[in-house]
Formats: sequence, structure tokens, C-alpha cells
Amino acid sequence: MDRLLELTELLEKQVVILEGERANQYSGFSYSEESMDKASREIEKISNQILAEFPPESQPSSLFFALITMANQSRYTELENEIYRLRNEAVKVEIDGETVNLSNWRRFNAQHLLDKEKRKRAFDGLMEKARALTPILDERFALSRKLFAAYNLDPLKTYIVEERLSLLKLKELVEGLALKAKPLFLELGDRYAREILGKPLEYYDDMYVFRSFIFEPVDPYFKFNFEEKLLPIYHRLGFQTERILIDGEARPGKHASPVCFAVQVPSDVRVLYQPTSPVSDYMSFSHEMGHALHFSHIDQNRPFWDRYLIANGIAEVFSTLFESLSITPEFLVEEIGVQRDVALELYRRNQFMQLYFLVFYGVNSMLKIKFWEERLTMERADQVYAEYAEKYMGLPLPGIYWETHHVASMFDMYTPSYLLAQIRMEEMVLKLEEQFGKKWWKNSTSGAYIKGHILPGGAIDLESFSQLNEGPFWRKIVTPPEEL
Ligand SMILES: [Zn+2]
Repeated sequence: MDRLLELTELLEKQVVILEGERANQYSGFSYSEESMDKASREIEKISNQILAEFPPESQPSSLFFALITMANQSRYTELENEIYRLRNEAVKVEIDGETVNLSNWRRFNAQHLLDKEKRKRAFDGLMEKARALTPILDERFALSRKLFAAYNLDPLKTYIVEERLSLLKLKELVEGLALKAKPLFLELGDRYAREILGKPLEYYDDMYVFRSFIFEPVDPYFKFNFEEKLLPIYHRLGFQTERILIDGEARPGKHASPVCFAVQVPSDVRVLYQPTSPVSDYMSFSHEMGHALHFSHIDQNRPFWDRYLIANGIAEVFSTLFESLSITPEFLVEEIGVQRDVALELYRRNQFMQLYFLVFYGVNSMLKIKFWEERLTMERADQVYAEYAEKYMGLPLPGIYWETHHVASMFDMYTPSYLLAQIRMEEMVLKLEEQFGKKWWKNSTSGAYIKGHILPGGAIDLESFSQLNEGPFWRKIVTPPEEL
């Protein structure tokens, strides 16, 4: 084990360099591509060395699974850069003199929200151009398929091990919740679409279109300083927020939406944000702060794999915990000073966004499960996606849409992780409420409970609070907020 610790310490040094440069890049600061390349090559070298010296069964599974791709880091980086380039340069259309590509599409939709004909033309045009992505996405997924097959694995098999559930349970949760959400989603989606867009809900009104307008009526109440309001609360819960580098300055070249970088866990964790649209900034800031509180409070004596290689369905428990706290009506009224009717309205609108998430991510997740399970070709995957969109969302979404989606197309799995994390998070909230009362955040001992689960990193005892029971999560989505 000493040798493994020694090698993973070397690996960590390179990861710190790579993440540090990436954080600079996203901050709009100068960064060195050369040092990123060098670090990637070192990561590849050390990963191969570990794989050569240690048989899979002698390694922690999280490390072994990560090494399979890390040992080919530079090829993945090359493919990802090429995909990024195509998303900007090949998948683009001209709409009345404006150039729309996959990077500025959401902004375009927000700017032309009420011009349905314009939005429809952009949507249809981009789907047609998305064909350019197919060969390179195919190559990227084929690479994963090949690398995992060498160990008689595939990304789905490793995913359910990392997320600690069975394939059957995964399918039951994703499909069950999507089908349950579908009628409510269609009913409310149509109501909000008519209210704000002045037309029925249609296939080109995707989740991101809704996200750009749904919170508008409550936006004016969220123009306060997030750090001033939220940091004292995290502090009261026993978190050392001074450990986190928070950068809220607007800067050219800085990433538009809030993001968290765990450069070195737990000692160098950064959150970047800048003002764009109030409610969505507020919720994303709380989400990213949740990631930062998590990574900055993991035990520094834990090995590399426990500190860095945490399944997304576990890491997102803590980000969604603080996001969900931030919009809890009682919390908004008593801690932030928002009027009660505003707090309830925000919550109701977010409940609809949760329904949209369940049906849309249901489609994305069921596709990715089938993709690996039945070794689908890209062509077949598109057909299946269109069938699933009809089945789980009730909308005739073109099958190629998934190839344009930043999560479904850019990661081997990942899509079901937000759902798993939120189910687990609501189970944790139930425990917090049982032990510390409905307003658990007022009791500083509740912070000790949360920190207790953070400390072991990837070695968290999930079973002590989660049986993946979706009841508490579903209840939060369908119960009128005044009755919660
Ligand atoms: Zn997150």
C-alpha cells in the first residue's frame, strides 16, 4: 500500500497543476497550455505505471476505474478539444444576421424568448448541423468502450459500482420518476408557456429556455450580496468559509456561470461567479458553495482516491443540499429577509423546473443506460432518444438533440447522478429534521452532522442515511410549498 500511496501522491501533484491552470483559464486569468499538456502527459504516465504495478483487484475500485481513462488522458483531451471546436464552429446557423452556435444558443433563446418563429428556426437549424458532431462523439465513446472492454467492463458497469446501486434499481428510479412526473410536467409546462411565451408548450422550448424566464417575476428580490448573506450562516454551522477562495469579480474572459474548482483537496478550493441573472445566480452560487464546503472539509489525511475520486451521485449530495437550503421558504424568510409570498412563488416555480428535470434527464439517462447496455450505434441511439422523448416527456424532440447536450454527449455516464444525489440529499434532510428540527440550519450541531459525512470523502457511509428511497424527494416536488 505504501507504494500505491507514493504513486498517487505523484499523481496528485500533477492534478493540482492541471486544475490550477484550468481554474485560471475559467477565471479569465492567464494560463499555460504548455504546463497543462505537460501535466496531462505526466498523469498518463503515472496512471499507466500504477496499472502495470497493481492488478485491478489490489486497488480501491474508484482508483482503478479512474485510471482506465486517466491512462489515456491526452487522447481524451484531444477529442474533447475537437468536440468543443465543432460545437462552436461547425454547429452554427445564421438567424437574421446573428450567428448562433451551441455556446451562445441559450443566450440567443433568452434574448428572443417571445419570437417563437426565430427560436424554432435556430433550433431546427442547429439540429441539422449537429450531424457534424456524430463521427467525433462516436470516436470518443468507442474509445471508452475499448478501454473498459480490456478489463471486461463498460462505463455503465463501473458506474453502478461507483454509485453503489444495482442496474435494476437505477432503471426503476429513473424511469419510475420520469413517468410519474410526465403528466404534471405537461400540464404545468403548458400553463407557464401560455402565461409567458403566449403559446402552447412545444419541442423547441427546452429546459434551458424555461430556465431563462421562469424566475423572472421573483428576480427583483434577489439583488443582494450573496456572500454577505450566506457566509455567516455557513460559519454558524461550523464551516470554515475562509478556507475557500471566493472570486465574485466580473472580468473579461471569465466563465459566465458559477463554478467550483477543487484544485487541491482540501486546502485549495475556489468558487468563481459573477452577476448575470439574480435568482439563477443565487441558486447556482449556493450549489457551488456546497461543493466548496464539501471539498474544503474532507480529511486531509485521507488517501488521494478518497479525497478526489468521489462519485458524482455522492459529491452532488452536498451541492444540492446547500442549493435546496437556499430556496427553502422558511430559510428565505427568516435568514435572507425575503417576503413570504416571494419565497413561496420561487419555490413553486422551482418545483416545475424539478419536474422538467425529471422528464428530460429521464430521457438522457435512459438513453445512456441503453447505449452501453445494448452497444447502440450513434444512428440507433438517435432513434432511441426520439422514442424516449415521446415516452417520458411527451414531446417530439429530434433524436440528435442528445448529441448537442453538454452532459449527455460529453460524459460516458453522469446523467443519472443528479437524480441519485437529490434522492440521497432529501433523505439526509429528513435525518437533519428529525434530529435538529424543521429549521435544522439554526442549530449548529446539524453542521457537525453534515461535516461528519463530509470528512471521509469517497469513503462516506451512505447507508447510514440513504436507502435510495425516492419518497422524500418526490414529496418536495409535488407538495404545495405552504404545506411543506
Ligand atoms: Zn454540482
